[in-house]
Amino acid sequence: SLTLGIVGLPNVGKSTLFNALTRNDVLAANYPFATIEPNTGVVPLPDPRLAVLAGIFGSERQLPAVVSFVDIAGIVKGASEGAGLGNKFLANIREADAICQVVRVFADDDVIHVDGKVDPLADIEVIETELILADMQTLEKAIVRLEKEARVKKDRKPVADAAKQAQAILDSGRTLFAAQKELDVELLKELSLLTIKPFLYVFNADESVLTDEAKKAELTAAVAPADAVFLDAKVESELIELDDESAAELLESIGQTEPGLHALARAGFHTLGLQTYLTAGPKESRAWTIHQGDTAPKAAGVIHTDFERGFIKAEIVAFEDLVAAGSMAAAKAAGKVRMEGKDYVMVDGDVVEFRFNV
Ligand code: GDP
Repeated sequence: SLTLGIVGLPNVGKSTLFNALTRNDVLAANYPFATIEPNTGVVPLPDPRLAVLAGIFGSERQLPAVVSFVDIAGIVKGASEGAGLGNKFLANIREADAICQVVRVFADDDVIHVDGKVDPLADIEVIETELILADMQTLEKAIVRLEKEARVKKDRKPVADAAKQAQAILDSGRTLFAAQKELDVELLKELSLLTIKPFLYVFNADESVLTDEAKKAELTAAVAPADAVFLDAKVESELIELDDESAAELLESIGQTEPGLHALARAGFHTLGLQTYLTAGPKESRAWTIHQGDTAPKAAGVIHTDFERGFIKAEIVAFEDLVAAGSMAAAKAAGKVRMEGKDYVMVDGDVVEFRFNV
């Protein structure tokens, strides 16, 4: 499955956040046989629709989709030169599907900042610069090789050109992700570049920032097109120890209506280009993870490969239509249940039953 690699400068709250991400009783209860690597945090994607479906179908249990985060050893300035853990760090990032940077916004004189002051945008630039430098090294070598190849094989020319275009973007100080609209991302895939991966920023903030909409809007705009999430890692690590009522009180005390991990799960899911569809029955109501743009047979394949191979059609009702009708039978009577074929592109919130040959 796809993962987000958690990176960040030392002392920004990565371990604190990761601790919250890995302490997940909901998941342990629902996926007892899943092996979860020690450096992986798996969080459920909050989905209030599952409880509604469970009510309609009398489902015994609810299974949300999940998002995986991998803890990547601390980056240091000079990582691209192989300093310290540099090389291992870059290799680990290469394996992640998206980059999730934890950025310190909280003020606390007891916690030392590696660069002496709390400056979120400067911290983002430090990490961005290391990744850009690593990509520039990759491209420098690749371009020499690709130009040679292009001289003998015509179809290598577009790749060589795309690499040179990417190099120019990095030279101007931008990441390839920020410039994705100008690039043919497909052509560059074989080069395993780092800054072409989608970015997500987690601003580790205290109450003063969490309740400051203007400040949050400013930081959000500064990192666009990446997603931005604001949370207090310390509070998140305390929330997971509390019962629902105490957790709600703690959240309210810092002006929040939901745990930051919920927003983080949603943003992580979005950053990875994922979406869900729903199935429901007396046994379980469940959200299944697919890629945005997946067709119905692809979606069926997530449940079982036989479902994809033997796909005939999908019986689909939009979640809202099902809820408005009150039951599957009523939705059918109201003409809200559609039969979709193999070219149908799934829409988030589709409640599905697949028909297939085995
Ligand atoms: P890492 O080096 O990025 O993994 O950072 P840690 O998670 O070890 O956090 C460094 C220090 O900052 C620890 O003493 C944490 O308790 C503290 N810390 C982490 N998050 C917060 C926060 O949101 N607010 C405050 N005040 N301190 C925090």
